[in-house]
Parts: sequence; structure tokens; C-alpha cells
Amino acid sequence: MDKERLLNMSAAEAAELMRSGALSARKVTAFFLERIRERNEHIRAFITVDEAGAMKCAEALDACPVEKRKGRLFGVPVSVKDNILTRGLRTTAGSAFLQDFIPPDDAEAVARIRKEGAVILGKTNLDEFGMGSATRNPVFGNTVNPLDDQRSPGGSSGGAAASVSGGMCMLALGTDTGGSVRQPAAYCGLYGIKPTYGAVSRYGLIAYASSMDQIGVIGKYPEDLRLALSVISGRDEKDDTSLPVPEDCLDQAELSGLRIGIPMEFLKEEISDENRRAVSDFADFLKGEGAEAGLFHLMDTSLFIPVYYLLACSEASSNLGRYDGIRYGKDQAVSENLGGLYRENRTSGFSGEVRTRILTGTYMLSEENYEDLYLKAEKARKLIRNAYDQAFQSYDLLLTPCVPGEAPLLTGPSVYSDDLFTVGANLAGLPALALPLGKASVQLTGPRMKEGRLLSAAFCYEKKRREKEMRWLG
Ligand code: GLN
Repeated sequence: MDKERLLNMSAAEAAELMRSGALSARKVTAFFLERIRERNEHIRAFITVDEAGAMKCAEALDACPVEKRKGRLFGVPVSVKDNILTRGLRTTAGSAFLQDFIPPDDAEAVARIRKEGAVILGKTNLDEFGMGSATRNPVFGNTVNPLDDQRSPGGSSGGAAASVSGGMCMLALGTDTGGSVRQPAAYCGLYGIKPTYGAVSRYGLIAYASSMDQIGVIGKYPEDLRLALSVISGRDEKDDTSLPVPEDCLDQAELSGLRIGIPMEFLKEEISDENRRAVSDFADFLKGEGAEAGLFHLMDTSLFIPVYYLLACSEASSNLGRYDGIRYGKDQAVSENLGGLYRENRTSGFSGEVRTRILTGTYMLSEENYEDLYLKAEKARKLIRNAYDQAFQSYDLLLTPCVPGEAPLLTGPSVYSDDLFTVGANLAGLPALALPLGKASVQLTGPRMKEGRLLSAAFCYEKKRREKEMRWLG
């Protein structure tokens, strides 16, 4: 099979060809492993590559008689972000603390994709514990954006996005607490979806801020996102916050008659001309398909960033308390007393950004600040949630920018305020999709468990885009 064709093939088509025997899983796996060998040293998308495990899995798939091949992801080469547990395969969360950690079990999402025949090629780079938006990692190195050598792929699932955008796998599992699937997807010209909170089990996802963490998917095509979501979503007994997913969650929706709301607050922000134009172009596209689109007032968005960071740091301080070198994490201390041991382990185990966030969170949760800071942030979060719920009384989908401008420079600072467009969906538990439009991007946000609506808009757009490209080529 010709190289270009394989690189541009959708995961859905590849699975079909491998199921029918027209394509060999071993050949596909070997092809992508070779790409990783050629490109990963420079791009650093992967922290760990599992060549032997991937080839063994692919061989077993090829050995399966054609009439018994059922897996929906049969033979599809997938990458998994390194804060999602993989049995027997090192999982670091990008932290020195977990540098040698080999999980005894798979995360539920990983177990589900394996069951459907996915071939896991390796574990992708991230900001430590998912805290950041540029995949800068002091322990494992910084990931480079495959589209631009000078820039980061965004983060924290930057390794995930770079693994797909750099042609090193077809689909990636990432995680999104405040935008970490959508931002790197947008910066790498890909689609990325953060599902409704609870739609995908968090069992085996290394916790950052549990009330917002969700596993999501990054890929080149909307149909691949739908396929992966259909596999990983659904109630899981092992995660009490997971929810039964209604059967129609991923159903196609008609664009005609759909009401699209564009919250004007986001357009008042400093965003690049390209991303501003992308919002209006996409609104025009949807109108052309028979939808109605209009500006409306969502709420004062100046609350979003402080509320998000206050809650995220508080939850992180509590979630990361377990890493002390005794119960969890590598013991590197030499101290004789317990206090010293904790201090030494936690100082050498966590990088500066993680330490800052733990300290910030501990401060917010302290007795004297709890009511004034943490509880107030929880109340403000309710207001944000209500504002979105209210908006969905009048609109079926919300259209906003996803990121303010171009991907962060490799050497530039990482800016908390860049998360403004993405944190709302996490605070309110809503599904949201990053959609690439040439070099720019937009974001669609929907009501809970209406992922199908977001994907339908993306399908339709992608179909038109491909038709246009064909006309242009032909
Ligand atoms: N940039 C945000 C943060 O650092 C979001 C990260 C994420 O979604 N994991 O918290």
C-alpha cells in the first residue's frame, strides 16, 4: 500500500480493510513504528514506545480468521497519553515520581480499545500530571509541533496531538481537564473532543482535578472520533462518576434548523484575526447548511480563569497528596525522619509548576481560606454551569474560538489566560470539540450527552472541505 494513502487513511477505513483481510495489521503497525523511529527523536511525541508489544498484538490480529474479526478498531495504531494506565507498560504522568511505574492494570478506556483490536504503539508526552498547555516537560523533554519546528503543539496532550499530526499513529487518547485535548488538536490541525463529564470512565486515569478530568480523543477525521468514542464511552462500575450514556448520544443530527449561539464575550477577547475569521466563516458555513446563528450574551467570563485555577489547584493538592515516596512514587530521599523524607521526596519528585499548584491549592483549602476562596469558587462554578444550561434553552450548539492565536513558541511563556475558551466546558461538564479550519480553529460546545451534534457539524464541514479539495485538485 502506498505510503501517502496509509498516512491519510481514516482509522475507520483502516479497521475495515484489516478486518476484511485486504490490509495486514502487522504491516500497518510496522509502518507506523518505522515512522516513530524516524521522527520521534526530534518531535518527542512519545515517552515510551512499545515496539514488541505492538508487533505481538498485530501478529495476533493477523492470525485471527477473517470471519471471526469483529473489533471496531481492528488493527488501528493508537497512542495513549502517559497519564492513562496501561498494564505492563510504563506510565509516568510525565513525572520523575512515576519514572519507573509499571501499572498492574489497564485504564478502563484502554481495556475497551484493546478489546476492539486497537494496537497501542506507545505512551505520549504531556505537561507533568497534565498541568500546563505547552507539553514542556523537564524530565522527558519538550514536544515539538510537527507543523512548525519553532512551536509547541500546545498541551497538555501535546504528545498525543503530535503523534497523530506527525503521522506516527492514526488516533490518540488524551485527557482534558481545562482544554488539554482541544488546544493541542487546534494547534496541530486536528479534531479533538472532550466528552461530557462522566461519559468516559476515569478508572485508571491519573487524577489531576477529578471533577473536571475526562479522557478524550484526537484524530484527523470526525468519523474516527465518533468510532473511538463509541468504544470508550459508557458507564463503568469502577468509576462512580461515570454515567450511562444514552443510545442516541452519538447519533447524526440534521444541521438544518439547528440554532447556533455565539457568546459575544469571547469575541471581545484578544484573538488572532485568523481565529476571529474562522468563527464567522464557520457560522456562515452552518447557515449555508440551513442552521440559524446569532450572537448572544452568555455571562461575564472574567470569572472563568480564576474559578478554574482555584478549583483545579485545590483538587490537585488533594489528589497529589498520595505521592510521598512511601505509599506512591519513587523513594529518592535519604532523610532519617518522616517529615524530611516527605519533603525530600516531594521536592525531587515534582517539578516547579506542580509544586506551585500543590502549594496554591493547599492554601485555598486551608481552614482560614476555605470559605472565602474554595467555597466561593464552587458557587461561581454553579453560576457558570447555570449560564450554559440557560443558553442551551435557546441554542442547540455554541460556537466560539478554541484558542486565542498560534501555538505557543517553544521558548515562550505558558499563559494561564489562554485557557479562557476551553475551561467553561470542563467547569460545566459539557462536551466540546476543537475543529481545525485551515491554520485556524473553532470550538463547538453542546448540551450534555449530545456529542453526536458536535460531530455532525464536523462531518458535514469535513465532507464539504474534501469535496472542495477534490474539485481543486481535479
Ligand atoms: N492548561 C490547563 C491547566 O494547566 C488545562 C490542562 C488540562 O486540561 N489537563 O490546568
